[in-house]
Amino acid sequence: MDYQKLAELLFPEVTETPEDMEKRYPPRNLPEGAKVTRFAPSPTGFVHFGGLFPTRVGERLAHQSGGVFYLRIEDTDAKREVPGAAEALIRTLAAYGVAFDEGPVVGGEKGDYGPYRQRRRAAIYHVFAKRLVEEGKAYPCFASEEELDRIRAEQTALKVNPGYYGKWAIWRDRPLEEIEAKLKAGESFVLRFRSEGSIENKIRFTDLVKGDLELTENDCDHVLLKSDGIPTYHFAHAVDDHLMRTTHVIRGEEWLPSLPFHIQLFRALGFKLPKYIHIAQLMKMEGGSKKKLSKRDKGTDMEYYRREGYSPDAVVEYVMTLLNSNYEEWHAQNPDKKWSDFPFSLKKMSPSGCLFDFDKLNDVSKNAVSRMTAKEVTDAVCAWAKDFSPELYSELAADPAYAERVFSIGRGGPKPRKDFAVWSEVEGQFGYFWDRFYRAGGYPEGYDPALISAILGDYLSVYSPGDDQTVWFDKIKDLAEHFGFARETKEYKKNPDAYKGSVGTVSAFLRVALTGRQTSPDLYEVMRTLGETRVRERIAREASGLLKGADNG
Ligand code: GLU
Repeated sequence: MDYQKLAELLFPEVTETPEDMEKRYPPRNLPEGAKVTRFAPSPTGFVHFGGLFPTRVGERLAHQSGGVFYLRIEDTDAKREVPGAAEALIRTLAAYGVAFDEGPVVGGEKGDYGPYRQRRRAAIYHVFAKRLVEEGKAYPCFASEEELDRIRAEQTALKVNPGYYGKWAIWRDRPLEEIEAKLKAGESFVLRFRSEGSIENKIRFTDLVKGDLELTENDCDHVLLKSDGIPTYHFAHAVDDHLMRTTHVIRGEEWLPSLPFHIQLFRALGFKLPKYIHIAQLMKMEGGSKKKLSKRDKGTDMEYYRREGYSPDAVVEYVMTLLNSNYEEWHAQNPDKKWSDFPFSLKKMSPSGCLFDFDKLNDVSKNAVSRMTAKEVTDAVCAWAKDFSPELYSELAADPAYAERVFSIGRGGPKPRKDFAVWSEVEGQFGYFWDRFYRAGGYPEGYDPALISAILGDYLSVYSPGDDQTVWFDKIKDLAEHFGFARETKEYKKNPDAYKGSVGTVSAFLRVALTGRQTSPDLYEVMRTLGETRVRERIAREASGLLKGADNG
């Protein structure tokens, strides 16, 4: 067979050579050991939480080594294309600190190794496809859908492996004349790889996280170019990762079965094989056993985290705890450092699937939020509320300094409060600081409203906003004693029958009157933050309201 002639017949428009491509995309000028990694999504509009794993690994490996981390949009499947999906993905990832050094950006692209969208690289793939044909390593296949279906049915009946291989590869050795005739008749074809592999052979391969693996060689003549001339994932992977000078391919483990084919392809093309890291799928616990996280599970859609109001930093920290087993320990020892200071290591990655766990995420998030300054929290809650809670937003925006005082309660000390994980919890937990959300009620059971009313009324006559915490508390103790409650909780516990309750009960009356809740941060701080006017108004309103309620009852 005259392969040269076949190549000309198939790719008459290709005038450039692989050597030209090598010159256009030369090896990168990077320091020794610098890693070049990429994220290569096929955006569908749905940004999957799982995407944070390969992006974070790729980003860390590149940036910790002085290398390059780039974005390549794999849009070869036109059927799945969703307009604007790539832009939405870039925006979402940026919110989680995933910044690309090269790749598509809104309105264009940056970097010298583009185009970074595969559909714009068709001419490049054809240069390499032509070379493969010239070398007898690829050939056109004109098999129709019906013929392929028939082959599959026969293989099923014979209980042999499905696929286009061996005697089933019906276009593998057709004469040139036959191909020429088909081309003349304008029939479409796919370009197939001529596999020299056999399933009798095993290949050894080392994945940088999964370790040493033994895989079966590929014997199928897989498709390289589809009938529209657009490459399959496999062919584009080899050409792009070579020309873009990727050193480490980080991708989902669903690609592991295709690896033997990729190894063949790199070899056939004369490319050096990059290193691979196959990331296991995220798992969840369900009914006592591990299951793959599905698209419908809560928390797989990144939009969920925005809506709930997770701090992106907290989410990244959670991802870090799942990616590197020593992250939490490091963070405990270096509480003031950011995740980006952590020495990320492939050695600390688990080869099997990470377990996604909301409790753990919320725990990590509570810690992360507790380390933020009041100003940071105020800004973040404000930004979130603008999109998701207009009422809260209008309160925060009207008086940001007050909001900052609210969020500074219990913050900043060696043991900061860890009361909330997400911004959507703020209204429920701290809403009482704003009159609009404050709802009174919920006093401890078993106390006569008239008694509570009397205590609240008396408190108003002794309340003085300038009191320090000791004086403030002494006044509550005096009040407790006056109404037959123990001054100290200890006393009460020793002799509960002698009292109506303790100073704690009296504080609870005040707390409920002021916040509508039986739990809150330190009451003294809460009152100072609410300020004299709100404190007097609420206590007075409650004192009279309880009395009215008591009369009616
Ligand atoms: N486009 C492929 C995907 O979305 C990329 C796999 C890879 O990173 O090579 O799964």
